Amino acid sequence: MIVDVQDLRKQYGSFEAVKGISFQVKKGEIFGLLGPNGAGKSTTLEIMETLREKSGGTVLIDGLDIDKDKDQIKMIIGVQLQTSGFYPGLTLLELIRLFSGLYQIETDAMELLRKVNLEDKAHAKYKEMSGGQKQRFAIATTLINHPKLIFLDEPSTGLDPQARRNLWDMIKGIRDTGTTVIITTHYMDEAEYLCDRVAIMEAGRIIALDSPDALIDDLIAKGFERKKEVKTANLEDVFIALTGHEINS
Ligand code: ADP
Repeated sequence: MIVDVQDLRKQYGSFEAVKGISFQVKKGEIFGLLGPNGAGKSTTLEIMETLREKSGGTVLIDGLDIDKDKDQIKMIIGVQLQTSGFYPGLTLLELIRLFSGLYQIETDAMELLRKVNLEDKAHAKYKEMSGGQKQRFAIATTLINHPKLIFLDEPSTGLDPQARRNLWDMIKGIRDTGTTVIITTHYMDEAEYLCDRVAIMEAGRIIALDSPDALIDDLIAKGFERKKEVKTANLEDVFIALTGHEINS
């Protein structure tokens, strides 16, 4: 287990946005906080990232207590940098070198770009990237300090279908190298494809927590049936098949 959250609470004034949630994240899994806008996902994520104070409960990251060991926690986690910090006129290689310099960390910038399939864009300027490439680059920046655990907030928002699938496969690739990934999403298809386990949040509470498969099987075991016959492909698959997988993303 790499994350242990117990009875986590967050008050904004008199409003309780997170109402005493508990969950654990296993080493090497992609764990999703899934739920509609306002459910409390980002608040929970930002508390784990040490970016926001909690009102109650305990949070352990790799055994380190968020109340006492913030600095040590920051060393082992990867947080997405604000894209506003990416000077548009610098190349991807220059940006990575800049950030590693700021962090005082030795990084093989090309190796990092290879991990997110942007090796061939190393000498291209940030502003010349597509939305999907920018998003993959943002994820590369979370890996600069060789973290054990990375946090991604709504990683595929605004991307087209191919770019989303590329991004998802890339995130799975990061997981496969042993890095734990925690994401927030309000997209059910994203959670189903990407996450090993999901905590479904609503109004500050976790209302279900399991693998997508187990949650679906549970529902079926309770006698649920879809009205329409389920097809083995959807319109998104048709689009991808028509246009090809390896389109600029
Ligand atoms: P989600 O990420 O699931 O959309 P958030 O964690 O962003 O949810 O927000 C949960 C609730 O807390 C929402 O009702 C939101 O309006 C409220 N909230 C978030 N941040 C603040 C803040 N800084 N001050 C007051 N209320 C906030």
